[in-house]
Amino acid sequence: MNIEIEKIESLKRLLAEPCKVVIVGHTNPDGDAIGSSLALAEVLRRRGHSVLCSVPNNFPYYLRWIPSSEELIIYRNDEEHRVDSAVAEADVIICADMNALTRADELGAMVAKNTTAKRVLIDHHLQPADYFDISFSHPEVSSTAFLMYSVIVALYGKEVISQTVATQLYVGMMTDTGNFAFSNLTPDLFEGVAALAATGIDIPTIYNNVYNSFTEGRARLFGYAINRKMKTLLGGRVAYMSLTEEEMRRFWFQQGDNEGFVNYPLTIKKMKMSAMFTAQQGFIRVSLRSRGDVNVDTFARRYFNGGGHKNAAGGKSFVSMEETIEHYIKSVQEFHEEGLV
Ligand code: 5GP
Ligand code: MN
Repeated sequence: MNIEIEKIESLKRLLAEPCKVVIVGHTNPDGDAIGSSLALAEVLRRRGHSVLCSVPNNFPYYLRWIPSSEELIIYRNDEEHRVDSAVAEADVIICADMNALTRADELGAMVAKNTTAKRVLIDHHLQPADYFDISFSHPEVSSTAFLMYSVIVALYGKEVISQTVATQLYVGMMTDTGNFAFSNLTPDLFEGVAALAATGIDIPTIYNNVYNSFTEGRARLFGYAINRKMKTLLGGRVAYMSLTEEEMRRFWFQQGDNEGFVNYPLTIKKMKMSAMFTAQQGFIRVSLRSRGDVNVDTFARRYFNGGGHKNAAGGKSFVSMEETIEHYIKSVQEFHEEGLV
């Protein structure tokens, strides 16, 4: 990967003296956001910096085993205002795995008010915001964790990649690539994975901790979603599923239980695009996945106030489930008429 050396030098200068750093991740934090934030925090702390990591809301139970994940401060639960104080006093604020502060909702809005700290972006989403002082924006990279690995190594060398840091980074690389199955799997990614493996990380255990640690309710909800809720359009080339609050309650839903469901319709050979609509408090979360040239980043931006990557994107809908689905069906039709799906 081509990490811009002059930016590394700027970041090195910024971090030359021990300073106060806040690392921020996106709403509905995933393995990539958490793994890359915690890895950077670990490395910077060992260099003498004081570091606080925060995410807007809670993260799924099957990520709670990640080393140091207990130290992540959930901004929504931060009654002692530790994050507000840390951001107010911060010398450097680093946004990981998000392209804009709006991806961190209230936490992002609070961070945006701090105009004195230097802002650093380390991210792999399309269309990064322009208000960062140093911006490592690499949409061609499969995970922020691999970008983070490259930035850390460029800053301080491979020696700083401890087994803990390697475990944290591996989670991000594994989850954002669907266990190394999606696009952008470059030779240098596997060189990075080799360096992580060399620290002695336990790859099967990491895999099991994430992918074989669900509840019974999640397994049953998955069966229900695929069997009863998956609908198709355009002769079976586009799919969608939806889950209402009542349905989720029926299966003892816990946050994160529907993660990955949206990928499943794409196991059907002719499927080009898949959507999942999940009821949340006050809005509907939209998850989109696609294959090949079908660009769900464009689709999410155009129709669902969102964005992401070409083949994995998301957004929000502020109308009812029925209206959301109706809007989706119309949007798919329009996308189809333009030859985009
Ligand atoms: P997921 O479906 O896993 O929630 O998200 C897939 C991808 O879309 C992720 O890369 C995520 O960052 C992005 N994404 C999800 N929701 C939103 C959103 O509301 N706005 C934007 N800009 N991107 C989103
Ligand atoms: Mn990511």
